Amino acid sequence: MTDISAPLSDKTIIRFENVSKHFGKNTAVDNVSLEIKEGEFFSLLGPSGCGKTTLLRMLAGFEMPSEGRIYIDEKDVSLTPPNKRPVNMVFQSYAVFPHMSVLENVAYGLKMDGVGKSERLQRATEALELVKLGGFGERMPDQMSGGQRQRVALARALVKKPRVLLLDEPLSALDAKLRDAMRTELALLQEKVGITFIMVTHDQDEALAMATRCAVMHRGILQQVATPFDLYEFPNSRFVADFIGSVNMFEGTLAVDEPAHAIIRSKEIGDIYLDHGVTGGTGATVWAALRPEKIEIHKYDAKPAKMEDAPEGFNIAEGTIRLMTYLGSETVYEVELNSGRMVKVLRSNLTRWDQEDFTWDEKVWLAFNATSVAALLS
Ligand code: ATP
Repeated sequence: MTDISAPLSDKTIIRFENVSKHFGKNTAVDNVSLEIKEGEFFSLLGPSGCGKTTLLRMLAGFEMPSEGRIYIDEKDVSLTPPNKRPVNMVFQSYAVFPHMSVLENVAYGLKMDGVGKSERLQRATEALELVKLGGFGERMPDQMSGGQRQRVALARALVKKPRVLLLDEPLSALDAKLRDAMRTELALLQEKVGITFIMVTHDQDEALAMATRCAVMHRGILQQVATPFDLYEFPNSRFVADFIGSVNMFEGTLAVDEPAHAIIRSKEIGDIYLDHGVTGGTGATVWAALRPEKIEIHKYDAKPAKMEDAPEGFNIAEGTIRLMTYLGSETVYEVELNSGRMVKVLRSNLTRWDQEDFTWDEKVWLAFNATSVAALLS
Protein backbone atom coordinates (compact mmCIF):
# COMPACT_ATOMS: atom_id res chain seq x y z
CA MET A 1 0.00 0.00 0.00
CA THR A 2 2.51 2.58 1.13
CA ASP A 3 5.32 3.43 -1.25
CA ILE A 4 8.32 2.36 0.78
CA SER A 5 10.70 3.93 -1.72
CA ALA A 6 9.26 7.40 -1.07
CA PRO A 7 11.99 9.51 0.50
CA LEU A 8 11.40 10.44 4.10
CA SER A 9 11.77 13.96 5.33
CA ASP A 10 15.08 14.52 7.07
CA LYS A 11 13.44 16.52 9.79
CA THR A 12 13.03 14.71 13.09
CA ILE A 13 9.67 15.55 14.62
CA ILE A 14 9.64 13.15 17.59
CA ARG A 15 12.60 12.00 19.62
CA PHE A 16 12.54 9.56 22.53
CA GLU A 17 15.81 9.67 24.43
CA ASN A 18 16.47 6.73 26.76
CA VAL A 19 12.84 6.66 27.86
CA SER A 20 11.72 4.16 30.49
CA LYS A 21 8.45 3.75 32.33
CA HIS A 22 8.08 1.70 35.48
CA PHE A 23 4.78 0.81 37.14
CA GLY A 24 5.93 -0.34 40.57
CA LYS A 25 8.32 -3.23 39.90
CA ASN A 26 7.04 -3.71 36.36
CA THR A 27 9.03 -2.03 33.58
CA ALA A 28 6.56 -1.31 30.76
CA VAL A 29 9.04 0.62 28.57
CA ASP A 30 12.74 -0.10 28.86
CA ASN A 31 15.29 2.51 27.75
CA VAL A 32 13.75 3.35 24.37
CA SER A 33 15.56 5.73 22.03
CA LEU A 34 13.77 6.43 18.79
CA GLU A 35 13.46 9.15 16.15
CA ILE A 36 10.40 9.66 13.99
CA LYS A 37 10.60 11.86 10.89
CA GLU A 38 8.13 14.50 9.83
CA GLY A 39 5.40 13.13 7.55
CA GLU A 40 5.95 9.48 8.43
CA PHE A 41 3.20 6.97 8.98
CA PHE A 42 4.96 5.24 11.84
CA SER A 43 3.69 2.13 13.59
CA LEU A 44 4.46 0.83 17.08
CA LEU A 45 3.95 -2.89 16.78
CA GLY A 46 4.15 -5.77 19.22
CA PRO A 47 2.20 -8.36 21.19
CA SER A 48 -0.12 -7.50 24.05
CA GLY A 49 1.74 -6.07 27.03
CA CYS A 50 4.92 -5.15 25.11
CA GLY A 51 4.67 -1.49 26.13
CA LYS A 52 3.56 0.12 22.87
CA THR A 53 0.49 1.85 24.34
CA THR A 54 2.50 3.17 27.27
CA LEU A 55 5.05 4.65 24.82
CA LEU A 56 2.22 6.33 22.87
CA ARG A 57 0.57 7.61 26.05
CA MET A 58 3.88 9.14 27.17
CA LEU A 59 4.07 10.95 23.82
CA ALA A 60 0.51 12.22 24.30
CA GLY A 61 1.34 13.34 27.85
CA PHE A 62 -1.07 10.98 29.64
CA GLU A 63 1.88 9.26 31.34
CA MET A 64 5.17 10.79 32.44
CA PRO A 65 8.42 8.93 31.74
CA SER A 66 10.17 7.48 34.80
CA GLU A 67 13.47 8.18 33.04
CA GLY A 68 14.56 9.85 29.81
CA ARG A 69 13.26 12.69 27.70
CA ILE A 70 10.72 13.17 24.93
CA TYR A 71 11.14 15.90 22.31
CA ILE A 72 8.63 17.20 19.78
CA ASP A 73 10.16 19.52 17.18
CA GLU A 74 13.32 19.45 19.32
CA LYS A 75 11.43 20.94 22.26
CA ASP A 76 11.57 18.93 25.48
CA VAL A 77 7.93 18.10 26.27
CA SER A 78 8.62 15.44 28.91
CA LEU A 79 6.72 17.40 31.54
CA THR A 80 4.33 19.34 29.26
CA PRO A 81 0.63 18.62 29.93
CA PRO A 82 -1.33 16.84 27.14
CA ASN A 83 -3.34 19.88 26.04
CA LYS A 84 -0.16 21.92 25.55
CA ARG A 85 1.42 19.39 23.16
CA PRO A 86 0.93 19.68 19.37
CA VAL A 87 -0.47 16.16 19.21
CA ASN A 88 -3.96 14.72 19.05
CA MET A 89 -5.08 11.20 19.81
CA VAL A 90 -7.71 8.94 18.25
CA PHE A 91 -8.68 6.30 20.78
CA GLN A 92 -9.44 2.63 20.24
CA SER A 93 -13.06 3.13 21.30
CA TYR A 94 -13.31 6.35 19.23
CA ALA A 95 -15.86 7.68 21.70
CA VAL A 96 -17.99 10.43 20.18
CA PHE A 97 -20.46 12.56 22.16
CA PRO A 98 -23.86 10.85 21.61
CA HIS A 99 -25.97 13.97 22.24
CA MET A 100 -24.18 16.13 19.65
CA SER A 101 -24.58 16.06 15.88
CA VAL A 102 -21.66 14.84 13.81
CA LEU A 103 -20.73 18.41 12.85
CA GLU A 104 -20.89 19.57 16.49
CA ASN A 105 -18.74 16.62 17.53
CA VAL A 106 -16.08 17.59 15.03
CA ALA A 107 -16.26 21.30 15.88
CA TYR A 108 -16.22 20.75 19.66
CA GLY A 109 -12.46 20.87 20.14
CA LEU A 110 -12.24 24.13 18.21
CA LYS A 111 -14.99 25.60 20.42
CA MET A 112 -12.94 24.70 23.49
CA ASP A 113 -9.97 26.46 21.89
CA GLY A 114 -12.09 29.60 21.47
CA VAL A 115 -12.31 29.49 17.68
CA GLY A 116 -15.22 31.63 16.38
CA LYS A 117 -18.43 29.98 15.17
CA SER A 118 -18.16 30.56 11.42
CA GLU A 119 -14.52 29.43 11.30
CA ARG A 120 -15.18 26.31 13.35
CA LEU A 121 -18.16 25.30 11.21
CA GLN A 122 -16.13 25.82 8.06
CA ARG A 123 -13.17 23.82 9.38
CA ALA A 124 -15.41 21.02 10.71
CA THR A 125 -17.19 20.80 7.35
CA GLU A 126 -13.82 20.56 5.58
CA ALA A 127 -12.62 17.88 8.00
CA LEU A 128 -15.78 15.84 7.37
CA GLU A 129 -15.21 16.09 3.63
CA LEU A 130 -11.64 14.91 4.14
CA VAL A 131 -12.87 11.69 5.76
CA LYS A 132 -15.58 11.29 3.09
CA LEU A 133 -18.45 12.27 5.36
CA GLY A 134 -19.45 15.43 3.51
CA GLY A 135 -23.22 15.84 3.92
CA PHE A 136 -23.39 13.79 7.16
CA GLY A 137 -22.92 16.76 9.50
CA GLU A 138 -26.52 16.96 10.72
CA ARG A 139 -26.77 13.28 11.64
CA MET A 140 -26.54 12.05 15.20
CA PRO A 141 -23.80 9.50 16.04
CA ASP A 142 -26.33 6.69 16.59
CA GLN A 143 -27.43 7.10 13.00
CA MET A 144 -23.93 6.26 11.78
CA SER A 145 -22.28 2.87 11.24
CA GLY A 146 -19.18 1.80 13.21
CA GLY A 147 -16.92 2.71 10.30
CA GLN A 148 -18.55 6.10 9.91
CA ARG A 149 -18.22 6.85 13.64
CA GLN A 150 -14.54 5.97 13.33
CA ARG A 151 -14.23 8.59 10.60
CA VAL A 152 -16.00 11.16 12.79
CA ALA A 153 -13.37 10.50 15.46
CA LEU A 154 -10.67 10.98 12.85
CA ALA A 155 -12.21 14.22 11.59
CA ARG A 156 -12.43 15.45 15.18
CA ALA A 157 -8.71 14.89 15.63
CA LEU A 158 -7.68 16.26 12.23
CA VAL A 159 -9.76 19.44 12.49
CA LYS A 160 -7.30 20.80 15.04
CA LYS A 161 -4.46 20.39 12.54
CA PRO A 162 -2.10 18.71 14.98
CA ARG A 163 1.59 18.30 14.13
CA VAL A 164 1.26 14.63 15.04
CA LEU A 165 -1.78 12.36 15.09
CA LEU A 166 -1.65 9.43 17.50
CA LEU A 167 -3.81 6.41 16.74
CA ASP A 168 -4.37 3.71 19.36
CA GLU A 169 -5.48 0.49 17.59
CA PRO A 170 -7.70 2.64 15.37
CA LEU A 171 -9.25 -0.20 13.40
CA SER A 172 -9.67 -2.85 16.08
CA ALA A 173 -13.36 -2.15 16.73
CA LEU A 174 -14.28 -2.65 13.06
CA ASP A 175 -15.24 -5.91 11.38
CA ALA A 176 -12.68 -7.59 9.12
CA LYS A 177 -13.96 -6.29 5.80
CA LEU A 178 -14.35 -2.71 6.97
CA ARG A 179 -10.92 -2.88 8.58
CA ASP A 180 -9.37 -3.76 5.24
CA ALA A 181 -11.11 -0.87 3.49
CA MET A 182 -10.16 1.57 6.25
CA ARG A 183 -6.48 0.55 6.02
CA THR A 184 -6.32 1.87 2.50
CA GLU A 185 -8.32 4.96 3.38
CA LEU A 186 -6.18 5.82 6.38
CA ALA A 187 -2.97 5.45 4.39
CA LEU A 188 -4.35 7.64 1.58
CA LEU A 189 -5.64 10.18 4.08
CA GLN A 190 -2.26 10.40 5.77
CA GLU A 191 -0.59 11.00 2.43
CA LYS A 192 -3.10 13.70 1.61
CA VAL A 193 -2.88 15.67 4.86
CA GLY A 194 0.87 15.06 5.28
CA ILE A 195 0.55 15.01 9.09
CA THR A 196 2.85 12.59 10.94
CA PHE A 197 0.76 9.59 12.03
CA ILE A 198 1.88 7.28 14.83
CA MET A 199 -0.23 4.18 15.16
CA VAL A 200 -0.18 1.50 17.83
CA THR A 201 -1.24 -1.95 16.73
CA HIS A 202 -0.69 -5.60 17.60
CA ASP A 203 -1.75 -6.56 14.07
CA GLN A 204 1.36 -7.05 11.95
CA ASP A 205 -0.60 -7.11 8.67
CA GLU A 206 -2.09 -3.75 9.53
CA ALA A 207 1.30 -2.24 10.33
CA LEU A 208 2.95 -3.65 7.21
CA ALA A 209 0.11 -2.45 4.99
CA MET A 210 0.03 1.14 6.23
CA ALA A 211 3.27 2.20 7.85
CA THR A 212 6.33 3.72 6.23
CA ARG A 213 8.37 2.40 9.17
CA CYS A 214 7.59 0.22 12.15
CA ALA A 215 9.12 -0.25 15.57
CA VAL A 216 8.69 -3.81 16.85
CA MET A 217 8.57 -3.96 20.65
CA HIS A 218 8.93 -6.93 22.98
CA ARG A 219 8.87 -6.76 26.78
CA GLY A 220 9.34 -2.99 26.78
CA ILE A 221 12.39 -3.11 24.52
CA LEU A 222 12.64 -1.89 20.92
CA GLN A 223 13.63 -4.98 18.97
CA GLN A 224 13.93 -3.46 15.50
CA VAL A 225 12.99 -0.24 13.73
CA ALA A 226 12.74 -0.59 9.96
CA THR A 227 10.55 -0.37 6.86
CA PRO A 228 7.98 -3.15 6.44
CA PHE A 229 10.16 -4.59 3.65
CA ASP A 230 13.28 -4.76 5.82
CA LEU A 231 11.40 -6.19 8.81
CA TYR A 232 10.11 -9.00 6.64
CA GLU A 233 13.25 -9.67 4.59
CA PHE A 234 15.93 -8.86 7.14
CA PRO A 235 14.61 -9.51 10.65
CA ASN A 236 17.30 -9.03 13.28
CA SER A 237 16.05 -11.65 15.76
CA ARG A 238 13.93 -14.77 16.04
CA PHE A 239 11.29 -12.72 17.77
CA VAL A 240 10.87 -10.32 14.84
CA ALA A 241 11.10 -13.08 12.20
CA ASP A 242 8.37 -15.00 13.96
CA PHE A 243 6.18 -12.02 14.81
CA ILE A 244 6.18 -10.61 11.26
CA GLY A 245 4.63 -13.10 8.86
CA SER A 246 5.09 -16.85 8.74
CA VAL A 247 8.52 -18.46 9.00
CA ASN A 248 10.31 -21.83 9.14
CA MET A 249 13.06 -21.65 11.78
CA PHE A 250 15.90 -24.19 11.84
CA GLU A 251 18.34 -24.35 14.72
CA GLY A 252 21.95 -25.19 13.93
CA THR A 253 25.59 -24.28 14.46
CA LEU A 254 27.91 -22.30 12.24
CA ALA A 255 30.19 -24.86 10.54
CA VAL A 256 31.77 -22.11 8.43
CA ASP A 257 31.57 -18.36 9.00
CA GLU A 258 33.62 -16.33 6.53
CA PRO A 259 33.01 -12.81 5.25
CA ALA A 260 31.49 -13.92 1.92
CA HIS A 261 29.86 -17.19 2.86
CA ALA A 262 28.77 -19.37 5.74
CA ILE A 263 27.36 -22.83 6.36
CA ILE A 264 24.75 -23.57 9.00
CA ARG A 265 24.76 -27.22 10.04
CA SER A 266 21.32 -28.22 11.23
CA LYS A 267 20.13 -31.61 12.42
CA GLU A 268 16.69 -30.70 11.15
CA ILE A 269 17.45 -29.89 7.51
CA GLY A 270 21.15 -30.57 6.89
CA ASP A 271 23.67 -28.00 5.69
CA ILE A 272 22.40 -24.58 4.67
CA TYR A 273 24.72 -22.48 2.51
CA LEU A 274 24.62 -18.71 2.88
CA ASP A 275 26.12 -16.17 0.48
CA HIS A 276 27.22 -13.91 3.31
CA GLY A 277 28.98 -14.15 6.63
CA VAL A 278 27.09 -14.23 9.91
CA THR A 279 29.84 -12.90 12.22
CA GLY A 280 28.86 -15.32 14.95
CA GLY A 281 32.08 -17.33 14.71
CA THR A 282 32.47 -21.02 13.92
CA GLY A 283 30.62 -23.19 16.42
CA ALA A 284 28.11 -20.52 17.42
CA THR A 285 24.44 -21.44 17.73
CA VAL A 286 22.41 -19.88 14.96
CA TRP A 287 18.87 -20.00 13.60
CA ALA A 288 18.07 -20.04 9.89
CA ALA A 289 14.79 -18.24 9.17
CA LEU A 290 13.17 -19.14 5.88
CA ARG A 291 9.85 -17.78 4.61
CA PRO A 292 7.44 -20.38 3.16
CA GLU A 293 7.13 -18.60 -0.21
CA LYS A 294 10.93 -18.63 -0.73
CA ILE A 295 10.97 -22.43 -0.96
CA GLU A 296 10.44 -24.13 -4.31
CA ILE A 297 8.79 -27.53 -4.42
CA HIS A 298 9.79 -30.03 -7.15
CA LYS A 299 8.89 -33.53 -8.28
CA TYR A 300 11.23 -36.07 -6.68
CA ASP A 301 12.37 -37.52 -10.02
CA ALA A 302 13.14 -34.05 -11.38
CA LYS A 303 16.27 -32.70 -9.76
CA PRO A 304 15.76 -28.98 -9.02
CA ALA A 305 16.61 -27.33 -12.31
CA LYS A 306 18.38 -24.43 -10.72
CA MET A 307 20.84 -26.65 -8.93
CA GLU A 308 22.58 -27.29 -12.26
CA ASP A 309 22.95 -23.59 -12.96
CA ALA A 310 23.96 -22.46 -9.54
CA PRO A 311 25.06 -25.36 -7.36
CA GLU A 312 26.68 -23.00 -4.89
CA GLY A 313 23.71 -20.71 -4.60
CA PHE A 314 20.96 -23.22 -3.92
CA ASN A 315 20.10 -25.37 -0.96
CA ILE A 316 18.04 -28.51 -1.30
CA ALA A 317 16.26 -30.93 1.01
CA GLU A 318 14.05 -33.90 0.42
CA GLY A 319 10.77 -34.65 2.09
CA THR A 320 7.21 -35.95 1.78
CA ILE A 321 4.05 -33.89 1.43
CA ARG A 322 1.87 -34.51 4.48
CA LEU A 323 -0.74 -31.80 4.02
CA MET A 324 -1.88 -29.59 1.16
CA THR A 325 -4.21 -26.64 1.63
CA TYR A 326 -5.61 -24.92 -1.44
CA LEU A 327 -6.34 -21.27 -0.64
CA GLY A 328 -7.30 -19.99 -4.09
CA SER A 329 -4.46 -17.59 -4.78
CA GLU A 330 -1.92 -19.97 -3.26
CA THR A 331 -1.44 -23.50 -1.99
CA VAL A 332 0.27 -24.32 1.30
CA TYR A 333 2.21 -27.57 1.61
CA GLU A 334 3.35 -29.09 4.89
CA VAL A 335 6.37 -31.18 3.96
CA GLU A 336 8.00 -33.65 6.36
CA LEU A 337 11.78 -33.75 5.99
CA ASN A 338 13.72 -36.98 6.53
CA SER A 339 14.56 -35.74 10.03
CA GLY A 340 10.85 -35.67 10.84
CA ARG A 341 10.79 -31.88 10.90
CA MET A 342 7.76 -30.27 9.19
CA VAL A 343 8.38 -27.41 6.75
CA LYS A 344 5.77 -25.02 5.44
CA VAL A 345 5.98 -24.21 1.71
CA LEU A 346 3.76 -21.70 -0.02
CA ARG A 347 3.30 -21.80 -3.75
CA SER A 348 1.53 -19.01 -5.62
CA ASN A 349 -1.18 -20.21 -8.00
CA LEU A 350 -0.41 -17.36 -10.39
CA THR A 351 0.58 -19.73 -13.19
CA ARG A 352 -1.34 -22.66 -11.84
CA TRP A 353 -2.11 -24.18 -15.25
CA ASP A 354 1.50 -24.93 -16.13
CA GLN A 355 2.65 -25.96 -12.66
CA GLU A 356 3.17 -29.52 -11.56
CA ASP A 357 0.48 -31.15 -9.50
CA PHE A 358 1.32 -32.89 -6.26
CA THR A 359 -0.51 -35.39 -4.15
CA TRP A 360 -0.55 -36.29 -0.48
CA ASP A 361 2.35 -38.47 0.68
CA GLU A 362 4.32 -37.72 -2.49
CA LYS A 363 8.12 -37.49 -2.15
CA VAL A 364 9.46 -34.09 -3.26
CA TRP A 365 12.56 -31.93 -3.46
CA LEU A 366 12.61 -28.57 -1.78
CA ALA A 367 15.01 -25.90 -3.03
CA PHE A 368 15.77 -22.44 -1.71
CA ASN A 369 18.27 -19.78 -2.58
CA ALA A 370 21.16 -18.95 -0.26
CA THR A 371 20.06 -15.31 -0.41
CA SER A 372 16.62 -16.19 1.00
CA VAL A 373 17.87 -17.29 4.40
CA ALA A 374 18.12 -14.92 7.35
CA ALA A 375 20.74 -16.17 9.81
CA LEU A 376 19.86 -15.06 13.35
CA LEU A 377 22.12 -15.16 16.36
CA SER A 378 19.43 -14.33 18.94
P1 ATP B 1 -2.06 -4.08 24.72
O1 ATP B 1 -1.92 -4.34 23.26
O2 ATP B 1 -2.64 -5.27 25.45
O3 ATP B 1 -2.75 -2.80 25.04
P2 ATP B 1 0.56 -2.91 25.10
O4 ATP B 1 1.65 -3.51 24.31
O5 ATP B 1 -0.02 -1.67 24.59
O6 ATP B 1 -0.58 -3.99 25.33
P3 ATP B 1 0.93 -1.55 27.58
O7 ATP B 1 -0.52 -1.22 27.72
O8 ATP B 1 1.85 -0.46 27.23
O9 ATP B 1 1.12 -2.73 26.54
O10 ATP B 1 1.42 -2.24 28.92
C1 ATP B 1 2.76 -2.64 29.15
C2 ATP B 1 2.88 -3.23 30.54
O11 ATP B 1 2.67 -2.21 31.51
C3 ATP B 1 1.85 -4.30 30.83
O12 ATP B 1 2.47 -5.28 31.61
C4 ATP B 1 0.78 -3.56 31.60
O13 ATP B 1 0.10 -4.44 32.47
C5 ATP B 1 1.58 -2.52 32.35
N1 ATP B 1 0.80 -1.30 32.61
C6 ATP B 1 0.31 -0.47 31.68
N2 ATP B 1 -0.34 0.58 32.27
C7 ATP B 1 -0.24 0.38 33.60
C8 ATP B 1 -0.70 1.10 34.75
N3 ATP B 1 -1.35 2.25 34.63
N4 ATP B 1 -0.40 0.59 35.96
C9 ATP B 1 0.29 -0.56 36.10
N5 ATP B 1 0.75 -1.28 35.07
C10 ATP B 1 0.49 -0.83 33.84
